Amino acid sequence: MGVLRENDADAAGNEREGVTKFHLCYTRGAPLRAARLATLQGWRRILFDLGLIGQEATEGGPIGFGNVSERFDAEQDGHERFLITATQTGHKPVLTPKDYSLVTGWDLAANRIDAEGPSPPSSESLTHAIFYASLADVRYVFHGHSPEIWSCAEALGLPSTARDAPYGTPAIAREVQSLLALPDCRATGLLVMGGHRNGVISFAASADAAGEILIQTLARARGLASRPSPW
Ligand SMILES: [Zn+2]
Repeated sequence: MGVLRENDADAAGNEREGVTKFHLCYTRGAPLRAARLATLQGWRRILFDLGLIGQEATEGGPIGFGNVSERFDAEQDGHERFLITATQTGHKPVLTPKDYSLVTGWDLAANRIDAEGPSPPSSESLTHAIFYASLADVRYVFHGHSPEIWSCAEALGLPSTARDAPYGTPAIAREVQSLLALPDCRATGLLVMGGHRNGVISFAASADAAGEILIQTLARARGLASRPSPW
């Protein structure tokens, strides 16, 4: 059982630390080559610079947020895997290969993640797994926190999970799966996690597309926020 401490939320949707969100079967292993991680590294740095990845102060101390993942090709056995940033990395401007983990299996119904690598995977790995399990053409999933996008979700017409569906639960997994079944949601390439404060996720067949949709949506949210009052 993994007790992870990365921006967890309780049943009321409030952020708190130290909550077990999934069963983690983790095996320590060697880091991947830096060249294999270059695409994720580049986009992760952009998202950090924009504040979509980082850390926030809480009563219990600073908590990191934001994580990026990439489908890892099943070259030989057809087994599904994905690379993801490790837990407790949100505060770091630049990651090293030791800050990545390889998710080697998952069971959404049982809330279980199998992973190996130099560090345990992000506590939000199960959410990333939903995208890879649901959409065969998705190769990148980026999760950031943006108060601007989150608070404007309705005005921007963004697909959103219910505010009473807390992140990291089977309920939110089912809700994400049903949203991803909607063609409009798949075309948007981004959804807002209503029950996970400030949480947004983009997903696409390329890292460029997943990154650009986040940045474009942030620009739209800032555009809304900066409109002059009619009065
Ligand atoms: Zn989050």
